[in-house]
Amino acid sequence: MIRVADIPDLRRQVSGWRAQGLRTALVPTMGNLHAGHLALVRSARELAGRVVVSIFVNPLQFGPSEDFAAYPRTLERDAEQLAALGADLLFVPTVDGMYPRGQADHTRVEVPGLSDILCGASRPGHFVGVATVVCKLLNLVQPDLALFGEKDFQQLLVIRRMVEDLCLPVAIHGLPTVREADGLAMSSRNVYLQPAERALAPGLYRALLRAAERLSGGAAVVEVEAQGYAELAAGGLEPEYLSVRRACDLGPPGAEDLDLVVLAAARLGRARLIDNCRVRLDD
Ligand code: AMP
Repeated sequence: MIRVADIPDLRRQVSGWRAQGLRTALVPTMGNLHAGHLALVRSARELAGRVVVSIFVNPLQFGPSEDFAAYPRTLERDAEQLAALGADLLFVPTVDGMYPRGQADHTRVEVPGLSDILCGASRPGHFVGVATVVCKLLNLVQPDLALFGEKDFQQLLVIRRMVEDLCLPVAIHGLPTVREADGLAMSSRNVYLQPAERALAPGLYRALLRAAERLSGGAAVVEVEAQGYAELAAGGLEPEYLSVRRACDLGPPGAEDLDLVVLAAARLGRARLIDNCRVRLDD
C-alpha cells in the first residue's frame, strides 16, 4: 500500500491508474478505523481494481466546542489494517494541504435544507464542512465510486444530493451499519464511553428498533417519536432528537410514504451517539 500526503503525488498516482483503465473506489474516513470502516474497504476491494482510503480529521466539519483536538488519531494501526485488507493507496493530507489559504476563506459546498435539520440543527456548519471536504476528495481522486456508511444516514443523503446537484461523475454506494454484538453502532467516538456509559449505549438502537416495530404496527408518528424520546431519557441517555422521516429526503412523512427511517441522536457522557433504523411499511 502506498501512503501519500501530497496532493500532486496523489494526482499523479490516480491519473496513472485511470490511464490504465483501472476502476477506482474511494473510501473517505477520519481514521481510528473499526469494523464499520473495514467493511467499506472490503466492499470497495470487490467493486474496483484500485482502492483509495483517505484519513483526514477535517476541521471544517467540527464546531468550535467540539472534539477536533481530542478526536482519536491512530494512524499507524489504521495503516496496518488497511494494508492487510489490500487497500492500494492511503491518502493522509495535512490541514494546510487541504486548506492552504485557511478555513475561513475557503470555498464552501452547501446542500441547503437537508443540512439544516436533525444533526444539522444542533451542529451548525457541520454538513457544509462534510460536503466541502467530500467534494474536494472526489475531485482529487476522481474515483468511479465512493463508499459511505448508512450509520451516518443524513450525511449519506447530503452527499448523494451534492453529487447529483453538481453533476459529479461518481457512483455513491451506501453500506449497512456494522454493530457490536449488543447492537451499538460502531463509531470512532465510542472510545469516549466510560464502562457504565458503554453498558447504557445499546439502549439507543433498542429504542430505534422499538420505534420501528410500533410504526410497522400502525402507531402514529407523533406517538412513536414521543415514546422513543422518553425511552432514551429513561435509559440514562440525554436525547437530542428521535425523529421519524421519509427515507428519500428526510422530510416529514405523509400517509402515502412507506419508506421511512427513524433517526436519533443522544448524549452519553462525553460522547454524542447517532443511529438510525429503516422501516418499510409495505413489507
Ligand atoms: P468517519 O471516519 O466516522 O468519518 O466514517 C467514515 C465512513 O465510515 C463514513 O462513510 C461512515 O458513515 C462510515 N461508518 C462509520 N461507522 C460505521 C458503521 N458502524 N458501519 C458502517 N459504516 C460506518
